[in-house]
Amino acid sequence: MANTEQDRWSRVKGRLRTSVGEDIYTSWFARMDLEGVQDESVHLSVPTRFLKSWIQAHYAERVLSAWQAEMPEVHRIDLTVRSAMRAATPAKEAIAPVEARRPERNDARPMQELRAVATAPVSASHDALGGSPLDPRLTFASFVVGRSNTLAHAAARQVAEGRRGDAVMFNPLYIHAGVGLGKTHLLQAVTWAGNAAGERKVLYLTAEKFMYGFVAALKTQTALAFKEALRGIDVLVIDDLQFLQGKSTQAEFCHTLNALIDAGRQVVIAADRPPSDLESLDDRVRSRLAGGLVVEMGALGEELRLEILKLRIKAAQALHPAFDVPLPVLEYLARSITHNGRDLEGAINRLLAHNTLSGQPVTLEMAEHEVRDLIRPPEPRRVKIEDIQRVVARQYNVSRSDLLSARRTANVVRPRQVAMYLAKTMTLRSLPEIGRRFGGRDHTTVLHAVRKIEGLVAKDTALADEVELLKRQLQE
Ligand code: ADP
Ligand code: MG
Repeated sequence: MANTEQDRWSRVKGRLRTSVGEDIYTSWFARMDLEGVQDESVHLSVPTRFLKSWIQAHYAERVLSAWQAEMPEVHRIDLTVRSAMRAATPAKEAIAPVEARRPERNDARPMQELRAVATAPVSASHDALGGSPLDPRLTFASFVVGRSNTLAHAAARQVAEGRRGDAVMFNPLYIHAGVGLGKTHLLQAVTWAGNAAGERKVLYLTAEKFMYGFVAALKTQTALAFKEALRGIDVLVIDDLQFLQGKSTQAEFCHTLNALIDAGRQVVIAADRPPSDLESLDDRVRSRLAGGLVVEMGALGEELRLEILKLRIKAAQALHPAFDVPLPVLEYLARSITHNGRDLEGAINRLLAHNTLSGQPVTLEMAEHEVRDLIRPPEPRRVKIEDIQRVVARQYNVSRSDLLSARRTANVVRPRQVAMYLAKTMTLRSLPEIGRRFGGRDHTTVLHAVRKIEGLVAKDTALADEVELLKRQLQE
């Protein structure tokens, strides 16, 4: 694909990001790829049907206007679902230049040997249960362990190695992390490994699949069968729980969760935020989720990124033995592509495509050119309400429970208002949600606090400095 088109796409994504905000952008658009532009229409793709219908229903206009801002002649957006198992595409296609633009599921299939042993029987039984497609590359063997994911990896391994009848150690296991930091990889690794042992049934479902399965089952009057099937499995793995929407699905999820946990079955969950931040779920579900082991995976460190790159290259070499990436290039990539694992994968795909198509060796100069749009400024840190409460309490020398309490003495009222103000300005949480997290206060109280501090900051420079300092501490 022409570079101008890539650049344009990067700018359109930038516009979208600004127009919908970071959280929504990562939830819905991070996995959207450009397939091509033709005359008046732009062809985009997303990995699931659910994303497609959601974007069409809620963001079609925004996507179109973001494009029109770059290319006024565009009048149509075609959105399609990328095939889930691109893993099965032949090598020929995998190195085509268009493919190289799609960071997900598309490099020259590595891990051939692993696929050969693991895929067939596990996939078949998994599909029969109605599971979401599994990517044969996402196994423990290809998961690199580093500082940011040691605990999550250890817990996942433990779960995968459990046997039927073993006491369950932590239930559910809840893993959260930002986009591209390895959640899906780890969850699918658990599924492959658990099923390969042959003794237990491990079912991997995306939250979308859970919803669709349930809704479809309701329509065809087989909801009971669906529930029974779910309850008949040993380990339920649910990915991207933040996408679970709708009252009846959530109620059903809650029942399933309770039934499984009470029956001593293991539940593993991944989401892009901690349980307390899953706003749409009700309190009982949230506390049940938080009642197991909650582990966060942090950003991939430079060493970890280097190891991931090396592993990917090794895998690519299985199909393209002549593909070679000199160490300085590797180090350059590991140092500059800091964002997430998907971009690392995308970078290798591009180098591979360039190398195989042009026959030119991979050089630093070529790499810099090929991956320049993958190099982004570091993502602002995700600020959590707990962090705000902790930092504010420390600053004003009150306790966190004072902030949440009903006390109305001046020495707690002001810090509480500052904390609410920071929660409103530094997170995407709604006013009612913030009220809930501050000892169950009403949203009007939060609004009052936010306005109050806004007003004061404009006049009182000492307070303005204090607030600035708190913000900086929270962003570090
Ligand atoms: P998430 O589900 O958190 O958005 P994924 O699991 O899809 O992220 O990971 C994105 C990409 O990065 C995948 O290609 C994955 O294999 C790779 N990746 C992430 N973390 C690791 C890791 N620790 N080891 C190897 N590959 C990783
Ligand atoms: Mg994922």
